[in-house]
Amino acid sequence: MDTTRKPSWLRAKLPSGPGYSAVRSLVDQHKLHTVCQSAQCPNLGECWSRGTATVMILGNICTRSCNFCAVQTGRPTELDLGEPARVAEAVATMGLRHCVITSVARDELSDGGASVWAATIRAIRHRNPSTAIEVLVPDFKGRLQDVDTVLDARPDIFNHNVETVERLQRPVRVQARYDRSRSVLRHAKSRGFTVKTGIMLGLGEEAHEVEQTIRDLAADGMDILTIGQYLQPSKQHLPIARWVEPEEFVRWKQFGLAAGLGVVESGAMVRSSYHADEQSQRYTGVDHLNTQNALAGA
Ligand code: SF4
Repeated sequence: MDTTRKPSWLRAKLPSGPGYSAVRSLVDQHKLHTVCQSAQCPNLGECWSRGTATVMILGNICTRSCNFCAVQTGRPTELDLGEPARVAEAVATMGLRHCVITSVARDELSDGGASVWAATIRAIRHRNPSTAIEVLVPDFKGRLQDVDTVLDARPDIFNHNVETVERLQRPVRVQARYDRSRSVLRHAKSRGFTVKTGIMLGLGEEAHEVEQTIRDLAADGMDILTIGQYLQPSKQHLPIARWVEPEEFVRWKQFGLAAGLGVVESGAMVRSSYHADEQSQRYTGVDHLNTQNALAGA
């Protein structure tokens, strides 16, 4: 299979319009990092044009070196204690009724950054009482007391990605483990939270391994699963093993729903935070759509 040319169904929308410009200036003004930029997300044009962005807290340098991820690896700088308030203000300016926050891994911190996570959730809640807060967190090395620090701040959706099938964890997510991620997710579920996870396809996984992964995640009680196409950020990252056809994504969605998952968002361009408001609405039946999108003027 020729993986050097993107298939037609993977052409992304170019950034444009007043929504895009407004998000760009807001990110600059509040000195925020976004995973949209740091991870070279293909949906940046579409999401920013809709007036939404996924803010990445705890800096833009990660202590880990996952072989699929474009975020810079290195020694992070000191903690930015003003960040939670600025993130809360940015969420208010964007007029979001559903926000998604993520972070780099901060393995050098004794709590992995959990206290900053909690401060950020509380600051957003205080400034935006009716906004649903979705958190996409690292695994905190499996330390459940740090996971509890985040959960005690009461996010509306707890998301942590297992990223790939069990066999490919080591080559794809060097410092992470399938069982550890599952235990973090199960812990959040056991505390009654709505729990979400995601995987990428096109990394060399076999169909039976995808089936097993979906069954594992359904057995763990996951509420929402995202499935998307892996894209290689640079030649230094893992190569794309194959382009997954749109029909196959549809089959995995049907498989996941039949396995017992509540919502399965499956498609080439699907990412954790892509249309997260709509996924959440489908799961909860509550309208978290950004009907008051101040930035896009929608
Ligand atoms: S933990 Fe891995 S996926 Fe997450 S930001 Fe760091 S390198 Fe990227």
